[in-house]
Amino acid sequence: MTQRPSNHSARDAAVRIVQVLREHGHAAYLAGGCVRDALLGLTPKDYDVATDALPDHVRELFRNSRFVGEAFGVVLVRQFSREVEVATFRTESNYEDGRRPSHVEFTDAEHDAKRRDFTINGLFEDPLAADPAAAIIDYVGGRADLKARLLRAIGDADARFAEDYLRMLRAARFASRFGFTIDEKTGRAIRLHAHKLGQISRERIGVEVQLMLTAPTRGAAAQLIRDLHLDAPALTEVHRETPLETVSSLVSDASYAAALTAWMIDRHAPIETPSPASTHATLLPEVRHFLGKEAAATLRRWRKALCLSNDEQGRVHAILALLSVVLEWPALRVAHRKRAMASHVWDDSLAVLRAMGDRPGVARLVHQIDRDAVPLLKEGIAPKPWITGDDLIEMGLKPGPVFKRLLIDAYDAQLEHAITSRREAVAWVESHR
Ligand code: ATP
Ligand code: MG
Repeated sequence: MTQRPSNHSARDAAVRIVQVLREHGHAAYLAGGCVRDALLGLTPKDYDVATDALPDHVRELFRNSRFVGEAFGVVLVRQFSREVEVATFRTESNYEDGRRPSHVEFTDAEHDAKRRDFTINGLFEDPLAADPAAAIIDYVGGRADLKARLLRAIGDADARFAEDYLRMLRAARFASRFGFTIDEKTGRAIRLHAHKLGQISRERIGVEVQLMLTAPTRGAAAQLIRDLHLDAPALTEVHRETPLETVSSLVSDASYAAALTAWMIDRHAPIETPSPASTHATLLPEVRHFLGKEAAATLRRWRKALCLSNDEQGRVHAILALLSVVLEWPALRVAHRKRAMASHVWDDSLAVLRAMGDRPGVARLVHQIDRDAVPLLKEGIAPKPWITGDDLIEMGLKPGPVFKRLLIDAYDAQLEHAITSRREAVAWVESHR
């Protein structure tokens, strides 16, 4: 069933749900991230409602609803054409080895606040409060920490991370996203438990890393991950103290694949490391060395560690390969420059190269590429080929290595204007077969 777009905001939808629950005698509040974001002056991504109504009752009160996390007491309610998660106040227990709770119990607002991870995530808001000053319900000191820009675990930090090691990565995510300082005890507890992050499923780790690396604050996130020693368990490799200039210098809307590549270069091809290749004074010897020797194995490791999709790992692979080509730009013939520019990861690769701008020679290379690219783009970097495989077959050629070579060479000749029509292309093939 299609519905007309509604004029109500996501907040309106959540507030309406709170109202209905209230009218039926229940406690109900806006909860968690949306309260935090609003207090920070940011627009919340979504609004969650927390209530003492039991899940079955929530289902009855809202006909347009369904269970999404029945075991956790979460119901998705459709209101004003928007979906709002309505969760019953709960406590969680029996964490098995620092992973997800195996048991939940329904409870009151205070206990629900206290089972949450960080004080800034443990706030409730009563949107129907007559006195706006009394609208925020704070059982955990979240408001003071928001003011002080502090990320602090609720309760005993040690115990809270031992319950769920993923919270360590979430700490890096929230602190980097808001530019908050991590409270001292909280930070100490993370460093203490960091090596146990590997007990968490690779999928959940991957989700957190992706959220961090696709945010404009990815540089701060990578630094926190390094400084908290979460890099080793997150990436299943040794801890590295390398500078993180590349990932920190990426354009803010860089793709996940570009961010992963930049981070990889920072970690595995740091500028200080004199590499074997640096004996001959080429541009970026440390990066060339990495691309030639370790990149493939590192990507295989990261793919598993972060549960990268085929698409993401393919993109990173392509960026790494294209970077090797781009480093040779001054020596590339026109056809090869055009082929590079037509790649689906050209923009990603250039973004990574630009982000290495503090390394010797990069600024000059980028400048040359930018200059050379203008006329090439104007000519067209990926024209329709004059000659295709079908044409060659019609001309009596058989598919194979020679056939393939002819196609490549004919297209290169076209890209360089040695062939300017189909007739010339046919003649070219006849004289080269
Ligand atoms: P975002 O804007 O990134 O979605 P959020 O605060 O809404 O931030 P979610 O991951 O959507 O974060 O979780 C919603 C709320 O549930 C959090 O604010 C927090 O109170 C609680 N929460 C989520 N994950 C955990 C966890 N692993 N341990 C404890 N509480 C958690
Ligand atoms: Mg959320």
